[in-house]
Amino acid sequence: MTITSVQSRIDTALAAAGRAPGSARLVAVSKVQPLERVIALLEGGHRLFGENRVQEAAGKWPALRERYEGVELHLLGPLQTNKVKAALECFDAIQSLDRPSLAEKLAAAAQERGVCPMLFVQINTGDEPQKAGVSPKEADRFIAECRKLDLPLVGLMAIPPVDEEPALHFALLAKIASRNGLSELSMGMSADFETAARMGATYLRVGSAIFGERVSG
Ligand SMILES: *Cc1c(COP(=O)(O)O)cnc(C)c1O
Repeated sequence: MTITSVQSRIDTALAAAGRAPGSARLVAVSKVQPLERVIALLEGGHRLFGENRVQEAAGKWPALRERYEGVELHLLGPLQTNKVKAALECFDAIQSLDRPSLAEKLAAAAQERGVCPMLFVQINTGDEPQKAGVSPKEADRFIAECRKLDLPLVGLMAIPPVDEEPALHFALLAKIASRNGLSELSMGMSADFETAARMGATYLRVGSAIFGERVSG
């Protein structure tokens, strides 16, 4: 698929659900993709990208930002506390806020820096032991803790279990966001972005459907 056809499928799904055009933004997930594919998207005018690792992003995006104005970069993968400073330098949004120690570190680093990227709390909607994210049972309390730290929380992110109906997880995420007054929902990947668009996603994270299969990672 090309990014144009992914975008038109998103437009169709939004229209079918009675949602406004452009109400879900497409995050092109460029992790481990060859640089020329990323540049092709930038040349075509796309500006919103997602990466999984601080080090990989720090290695390629500063140079790309110099060449292309208006890039917006989101961190989607787990963030170690010793990489917080580097992450603040590289990313406009962090979608993987998932534990109190990270919240505290982010608050301190943001205070020092004077600015903080937009933050999404990652929810482990399937309570999967191997997956990052806050358990749905702990979500309200964790969100309240983040707010006490004055962190700029905008929404929630989730990666549903591979073997379950994603719609159930999208609905759960939307419910947690709504009862906590959070407006942004990052949900939906290559296999289920149309479902997510219909169910209220405001950010869709699509990698392989745009770029083709990843070589590794
Ligand atoms: C890799 C990744 C994606 C994109 O996955 P695809 O299935 O290739 O679209 C989305 N979100 C996160 C958190 C990822 O790690």
